[in-house]
Amino acid sequence: MNKAIKYRLYPTKEQAEYFLKCFGCCRFVYNQALNWRIMAYNADRTHLNYNDTAYGLTALKRIYPWLKEADSIALQQSLRHLDTAFSNFFKVKGSGYPKYKSRKHNRRSYTTINQNGTVAIIEGKGIKLPKAGIVKSHIHRIPEPGWNIKSTTISMDSDGKFYASVLYEYESNVIPAAIIDNAIGLDYKSNGLYMDSNGNSHTGHKYYRAGQAKLAKAQRRLKNKSIGSSNYKKQQLKIFKIHRHISNQRLDDLHKTSTEIANRYDVVCVESLNMRAMSNKGFGNGKATMDNGYGMFLNMLQYKLNDRGKYFVKVDKWYPSTQTCCSCGCTHKLGLNERIFNCGCGLTIDRDLNAAINIRNEGLKLLYEQYQNVG
Ligand SMILES: [Zn+2]
Repeated sequence: MNKAIKYRLYPTKEQAEYFLKCFGCCRFVYNQALNWRIMAYNADRTHLNYNDTAYGLTALKRIYPWLKEADSIALQQSLRHLDTAFSNFFKVKGSGYPKYKSRKHNRRSYTTINQNGTVAIIEGKGIKLPKAGIVKSHIHRIPEPGWNIKSTTISMDSDGKFYASVLYEYESNVIPAAIIDNAIGLDYKSNGLYMDSNGNSHTGHKYYRAGQAKLAKAQRRLKNKSIGSSNYKKQQLKIFKIHRHISNQRLDDLHKTSTEIANRYDVVCVESLNMRAMSNKGFGNGKATMDNGYGMFLNMLQYKLNDRGKYFVKVDKWYPSTQTCCSCGCTHKLGLNERIFNCGCGLTIDRDLNAAINIRNEGLKLLYEQYQNVG
């Protein structure tokens, strides 16, 4: 995993001059290499690339010895960026031919890679950079143990302030216990939205049923009007407005509920939806599914959790959350109308609650495996 932290730099006059020199040299090698590529292509349709050492940094340094004063790793990075610009041009539709970098219009920055401590945070002092030494900085955020510096980008804004954006890399194969304790599983319900693994059932808002009754009444009235008449059209408009009102209320409710869950929990586990799973659960009725807007609800949850740096875990649709005992793990066939799950192990539990607990446990297992693979 990566994390970038931007620090303000307070360079000495010499260090500031050095940064400006690096910005200029990086731009220069980029433009020079681009020039060579264009010439080679025009001469005999040759495509040069980063690995053509005859046109690499060493060759450039031989011709322009003053390049040696700049950060060598940053110059290499600049050439790599040109390579990326070319491969994007060839592979990614819509990306243009690489352009020369102008002094005026390009961001003043250079990126250097940390090679065995060439970039380091010196607590209480600042940031150590190649050739610049320690540059004074306010280290407002000290890296945590296990965070390794991957690279840093030095930049200057239009006011002449300098910054270092330090990219940290860290391995994480342990999910903090606090996160696991704050996990929840949601089981889809046809008559409401979900049952959660703590036994709370979300049944939709109280106005919903009233809206449905109103709609049914208005639709009955429509049948008594002659098709195409002005009364018929008026009634159609009325029905449309009731529909819109219900769906707005529904949307408000989905937003409110998903925000509450995303604020309260660190991990939310759900079942991935598919039509088959729904019909298996007896929800072949398209109307009920649409009214519930469960798919929309899951999308909201996903982006709200992502925004908060939390976890949204989808459990495979084939996972038998309803048939598995959340206590002993054995499986039983359960009829559609059986509301209570009775297990030989002695567990008696609400069918949906059992499923929600299983979804949470399975989701946590998946999250754990994912972490292990990262580390
Ligand atoms: Zn059991």
